[in-house]
Amino acid sequence: MIWFNEISGADPEVYASIKRELDRQRTGLEMIPSENFTSVAVMQAMGSVLTNKYSEGYPGKRYYGGNQFIDEIEKTAIERAKKLFDVPYVNVQPYSGSPANLAVYMAICKPGDVIMGQNLTDGGHLTHGGKMSVTGQIFRSIPYHVKPDGYIDIEEARKLAVENKPKLIWVGSTAYTREFPFEEMAKIADEVGAYLAADIAHVAGLVVGGAHKSPVQYVHVVTTTTHKTLRGPRGAIIMVTEKGMKKDPELPSKIDKTIFPGMQGGPHDHTTAGIAIALLEASKPEFREYARQIVANSRALADSLKKNGVRLVTGGTDNHMILIDLTQHGKGKGVFVQDALDAAGITVNKNTIPNEPASPFYPSGIRLGTPALTTRGMKEPEMRLIGGLIADVINEVKGEELPEDKDKRNEVLKGFKERIKDNDKITEVRRKVIELCDKFPLYPGMELADQ
Ligand SMILES: *Cc1c(COP(=O)(O)O)cnc(C)c1O
Repeated sequence: MIWFNEISGADPEVYASIKRELDRQRTGLEMIPSENFTSVAVMQAMGSVLTNKYSEGYPGKRYYGGNQFIDEIEKTAIERAKKLFDVPYVNVQPYSGSPANLAVYMAICKPGDVIMGQNLTDGGHLTHGGKMSVTGQIFRSIPYHVKPDGYIDIEEARKLAVENKPKLIWVGSTAYTREFPFEEMAKIADEVGAYLAADIAHVAGLVVGGAHKSPVQYVHVVTTTTHKTLRGPRGAIIMVTEKGMKKDPELPSKIDKTIFPGMQGGPHDHTTAGIAIALLEASKPEFREYARQIVANSRALADSLKKNGVRLVTGGTDNHMILIDLTQHGKGKGVFVQDALDAAGITVNKNTIPNEPASPFYPSGIRLGTPALTTRGMKEPEMRLIGGLIADVINEVKGEELPEDKDKRNEVLKGFKERIKDNDKITEVRRKVIELCDKFPLYPGMELADQ
């Protein structure tokens, strides 16, 4: 079947880009841990007539007419999320993870309140009080850190909470390779009377698949994106737990009002349908197997990297993610490794590591993960092979140096990118990557027309 053929006629320019992007996804190893390949069913919902509708408000309480079928879809998504995560209240309307988190702040806190989250360069998310984020500007942000071994410093978090009496504490982050300490953070939040919100954007799929502890019995609020390990469309969900209901029975209505009319207009109903479908998929036994395999793959990859001399933050992983520490080769090497892996068809992202010796823009780590490769059907043998390939690429570029003079950096990196394209080792890894990808076809039925 020829896909997107209407686009090909209506806009050849955009069509050509989509085609190149599909080819990039098919012929490369997608190892950014926040990415995944959603099902064709989810994608079809995103491309459906639901994108035409305005439905400000909530099921049964809309501002515009004609919402009887939209109501069905949103109610289905809500009921499925309640059942799957075992929570009494769900809002499926946030446009994405960042606005969902902002809505939690605005429902619970007032500007100037003290909030706590995991420090950005220690793996935390911008929206947990990062300086560049509005959350770090509207609220007084007290970040907690990880210890030199890479694990969250619970003692420090407790001390900071007792000293600063935060209104809201976040647990859950964006570059952390171990189980989140929900229970420990709950003790701290309860001790100081704070709200505790778990942001499980990265691990939601592992949580519903039984491969990561659920935060639900420990925290008051849970937020998650729907497009990472949960494998749905780009979107987000906010949940209130029984514990949250007890702390403030008004919390659900405060969150509903904050999302609409507080922060958003019409919900993206096509996304809501995609979320409903993804939640149904995630409730199947195959998804439990998928979640288990993500972690098994992540462990196999971590072992392979270590055997090949690559150092990892915390020395390994409990989840879908691995953080490579490149500081044994010098500081700020992440950008060279990312670009070289990119040239080899392995997509990862440079990332800060705990006690980052360089800067967030030129960090000394690489973050990678297994959710997307696992969706493609790859298992432990492929992970062992990939670990070797990544180690080869690191060894090839570990001697590259970033100039101290900031104005010269762009030029040096541009030269490096050109040079690396013709590098023999990188070319050889690229060939092996393509070979591997051929064995695990992505969206096999999705043919695109020649132009
Ligand atoms: C990805 C992520 C978000 C933000 O999601 P967006 O959809 O990109 O806005 C929030 N929190 C955490 C922990 C994340 O990993």
